[in-house]
Amino acid sequence: MNPEFEKTASAICARCGATCCHEARPPLSPGRVALLLANGVSPGDIEYAGYHRIRTRENGMCVMCSGGKCRIHSFKPETCRAGPFTFDVEGETVRIFLKHDSLCPLVAFLKADPAMYAVQFRVAVNNILSLARSLEPDELAVISAIPEPDCDLVAEIPLFPGNPGGP
Ligand code: SF4
Ligand code: SF4
Repeated sequence: MNPEFEKTASAICARCGATCCHEARPPLSPGRVALLLANGVSPGDIEYAGYHRIRTRENGMCVMCSGGKCRIHSFKPETCRAGPFTFDVEGETVRIFLKHDSLCPLVAFLKADPAMYAVQFRVAVNNILSLARSLEPDELAVISAIPEPDCDLVAEIPLFPGNPGGP
């Protein structure tokens, strides 16, 4: 994240109480799985359910959330870095969505600051493309089938620019 955005986001997120970490199950690229394990995350905190993801507790909260904060903040999953943007993949197109203000108080802040919006949008796209390009088509299909209510489509980007057939 951009440092200025990170500072503001921390304050807003602290008041929000990690709403987006409830029922999150963020997907993980193979590289992110390796990074998490190398940094002491227990293999038992990662599960495979059509794609690798962080587990949730029985109450639905992400197992990485402690006291309302992410305990793997510096190497958290790509989609957590991308928030409040999210995505799905349709064919060879990555569709980027922005959550509604009602889901995430950060959205209003971004909409009010076009420069900050542009910075975080770039961070989101880079993380989402990195994740999506690392996953198998069947894994992307499972992720893309997860409903994303209360979001607006804000961009459509080729999954593999200049190579419509994929890698
Ligand atoms: S929902 Fe938005 S404001 Fe709340 S913790 Fe998540 S990113 Fe932060
Ligand atoms: S990994 Fe961290 S930021 Fe992502 S859902 Fe879990 S607690 Fe939240």
